[in-house]
Amino acid sequence: MPELPEVETICWRLRHGGHGETALVGRTVMTVHLPDPAVVVGDARLLTDLLTGATVTAVWRRAKWIVVDLARANGATATALIHLKMTGDVHVRAAATAAPRFVRLAADLDDGSVLVFTDPRRFGHVELCVDLDAAFKGLGPEPLDDAFTPLVLRQRLRGRRPIKATLLDQAVVAGLGNIYADESLWLARLHPLTRTEALSDDDVVNLHRSIRHALRASITASKDELAWRYANRGAPSPFQVYDRGGEPCLRCGTSLSTTTVAGRTTVLCPTCQALPAV
Ligand SMILES: [Zn+2]
Repeated sequence: MPELPEVETICWRLRHGGHGETALVGRTVMTVHLPDPAVVVGDARLLTDLLTGATVTAVWRRAKWIVVDLARANGATATALIHLKMTGDVHVRAAATAAPRFVRLAADLDDGSVLVFTDPRRFGHVELCVDLDAAFKGLGPEPLDDAFTPLVLRQRLRGRRPIKATLLDQAVVAGLGNIYADESLWLARLHPLTRTEALSDDDVVNLHRSIRHALRASITASKDELAWRYANRGAPSPFQVYDRGGEPCLRCGTSLSTTTVAGRTTVLCPTCQALPAV
C-alpha cells in the first residue's frame, strides 16, 4: 500500500519524467478514457469535461493524496485529487508501449504520450476538488516539512495510546502507514505498544528523527524498490523490518517477531524494541 514516500516518488515522476516516462506537468489533455467510471468519486462526466483540453500546471502531494492542478484555455483553473489506496499507480507512458493491465482511467496527452491510472484492487479513486482546505481538513502535519519539529510531534502525541496506533492516525501525522510506522519504531528502538505518555523527551526527539529518516531514505529509492513495494516479486526487501518477520534484526541479529498491533501486522525486534515496564 503506497504511503508518503511512494506517493511522493510518483508525484516526482509526474513532475520530471524519467525511467522511460515523460513528465505530466506542462502537458494538455486531449481525450479522456474511462474504462471503469467507478474510479471517479462524484460526477464522472463533469470530471471528463474539465480534464479535456486542460493543461496540467502542477502535481504535488498532501498526505497520501496526489494533487493535480489544471488550467483551461479560458483561464479557469481546477484541481483533481487522486488517492491510490491499496494498489493504485499513476504514470505517463509513451503511446507506442503496450497498454498496461487494470487501466481505470487514461488520458491522451498533446505530445502523444498517455496518462494512465491503473489499479488491480480498484480501491483508488479520482475526484474534482473545489475546496482544498475542506478536503484536507483534519490531516496532521507533513512530517518532512520544516514546521514539523520534535515539539510539534510531542504535542500531537498527547493522550494515552500505544505509539503505533497513534502514528497510524492521519490526524496526528500525515502520510505514515503500516510500513513506515514499523520502520520508524525500529529505528527509534521503541516497542509499538509503548504508551505515548511513557515517552521521554529524548524518545520523542529520536522518534522524530527516525520518522524523517525512514521516509527520506525511501523517497530517494530506485524505481525497482518502488516496484517491490507494489509487486513484491522476489527482489530483496528495501526495508529494515517491514515484511521481514523471522529474519535477523539488522542491528542485533535477534530473530524479528511478527505480531498484530492496532489491527495491523507488525514486525519488531524483541531485543532492540523492549516494552518499557510501566
Ligand atoms: Zn535488534
